[in-house]
Amino acid sequence: MVKKEFQAESKRLLELMVNSIYTHKEIFLRELISNASDAIDKIYYRALTDENLQFNKDDYYIKISIDKENRIVKISDTGIGMTDKELEENLGVIARSGSLAFKKENKAKEGYDIIGQFGVGFYSAFMVADNVTVISRALGSDQACKWESNGIDGYTMEPAAKEAVGTDVILKIKENTEDEDFDQFLEEYRLKSIVKKYSDFIRYPIKMDLTKS
Ligand code: ADP
Ligand code: MG
Repeated sequence: MVKKEFQAESKRLLELMVNSIYTHKEIFLRELISNASDAIDKIYYRALTDENLQFNKDDYYIKISIDKENRIVKISDTGIGMTDKELEENLGVIARSGSLAFKKENKAKEGYDIIGQFGVGFYSAFMVADNVTVISRALGSDQACKWESNGIDGYTMEPAAKEAVGTDVILKIKENTEDEDFDQFLEEYRLKSIVKKYSDFIRYPIKMDLTKS
């Protein structure tokens, strides 16, 4: 296992984000769903120019699983995934956007839907979670990697097993405090209404799964 510290600037930005930028904590779900959608879009765009890659729409979706007892919300996608290097570059450094880079590299192509650009949305997960684990397997790789952080000092990375290409973002939802209700984010109806409010335009299916993940 490799253990790394966030850079000082990243730590400050993370603190600022978690504590003040977003007053509506519910937007964490919008951010994670837009990242999932971007990841699927990247396969879609790659398939346009790579004849060895087929894009069958039915294979691509986003899934939200809730495990209330263990306070876990998991957002999974069948998108392009991240290599260990990409996990480190995109999640280890705040304000680094792999999606913005992707758009720049591919700017000749029309019709971009990719949403990401600022490289901060992912960290909104720490507004509702005190631990975030990301397990990702990149397209073309048979290895997966696990990234884990408490959103304070740094993160760890280690090899992991994952059957299919894509990414799982696993949130350990915070305990309620005197003035904040985090239990709401473990309720199916609440998550459904957040999805409806912010993510209605996403063009891939968003499935809900209540069974343990
Ligand atoms: P942004 O979406 O604005 O680029 P984020 O902080 O939301 O910033 O995400 C940072 C980067 O991490 C993304 O640009 C992308 O490269 C990568 N990333 C995040 N979530 C995923 C995911 N589910 N699948 C693949 N890559 C992801
Ligand atoms: Mg994003």
